[in-house]
Amino acid sequence: MRIDDLYPPERLARAQRATAAAGLGALLLTPGSDLRYLTGYNAHAQERLTCLVLPAEGEPTLIVPTLERPAAEASPAPGTGVRIVDHPDGTDPYPLVARALGGPAGTVGLGNRMWAEQVLALRAALPGAEQRLAGEVLRELRIRKSDAEVAALREAGAAIDAVHARMGEWLRPGRTETEVGADIAAAIREAGHATVDFVIVASGPNAASPHHETSHRRIEAGDPVVVDIGGTMPSGYCSDSTRTYLAGGDVPGDFAGYYAVLHAAQRAAVAAVRPGVTAEAVDAVARDLITEAGYGAAFLHRTGHGIGLDGHEEPYLVTGNPRPLEPGMAFSIEPGIYLAGRHGARIEDIVVCTPDGVERLNTTATELVPL
Ligand code: ZN
Ligand code: ZN
Repeated sequence: MRIDDLYPPERLARAQRATAAAGLGALLLTPGSDLRYLTGYNAHAQERLTCLVLPAEGEPTLIVPTLERPAAEASPAPGTGVRIVDHPDGTDPYPLVARALGGPAGTVGLGNRMWAEQVLALRAALPGAEQRLAGEVLRELRIRKSDAEVAALREAGAAIDAVHARMGEWLRPGRTETEVGADIAAAIREAGHATVDFVIVASGPNAASPHHETSHRRIEAGDPVVVDIGGTMPSGYCSDSTRTYLAGGDVPGDFAGYYAVLHAAQRAAVAAVRPGVTAEAVDAVARDLITEAGYGAAFLHRTGHGIGLDGHEEPYLVTGNPRPLEPGMAFSIEPGIYLAGRHGARIEDIVVCTPDGVERLNTTATELVPL
């Protein structure tokens, strides 16, 4: 995968046209996935100002701290045609934003996850400019992945699948969740990720808490263990996959029964993905099956979230989202059943909507995995 395919230089021009069409004078983007999407620059978020000033028309400027200039120049950003301007420590960088705009901007779109101190400093530096969210413009560009982006997500999916495939090396009764989690984190890096973003090892009653991370609880024979793991690849694209394991011993009471319901619901929701089906309809496919089996109240969250340069992004597969799916949209399908104080289960695959259906980017078996 070539970096120019992943971060094509023409994205800036496309974003400028979309900015104008949205009635905005400029986008102002500090470090994060929007900046990386447009320029390929994986900037470090910090108190010093880094800001892409992208006017609806005219030359884009990347303002960076002087000490970050070598990193910015080594990134794909110069190849996109941005002019790089730097500011030494001890100087006020905000007037550089006004200068890069070259005049009153009218309305500016700020990166949705910009720090509040930067939002307020920009308000002071650009008096009279109305502030809106850049997400209004960038969401529509980012929601459909290019072939190169899908390839990057496929590579991320294969990397996290390789970690799940090794779970039997680490997950066994007598070890703590934290010990198992440390081994998993090392394997996530070994599998080619640049960063480990989260490691959930939720055993026994902890499996009933969807975002439990790890604890010093010792895994017991017969525990269901929910393992939800993900990281970011050097490409910038994220992985995220959940499997539920059984740590030896006998399956507890009703667990096998509701796991079968969950498994069928996850499979049915994946199979429902195709262009034109709405995001909320895919959620309903999983939710209706789980509800009919009597576990509706135990399915505590939406069915899925988009994924790309962010681990969670649009589209969200949730009641109330009538957006039709389109080819190139990539998202998780991750129903769960959580029985407070007892145990729980979740199955999660990343999938991409294709012109005629769906491709799973996680391909390890979704049946309960006895170890
Ligand atoms: Zn997950
Ligand atoms: Zn997820």
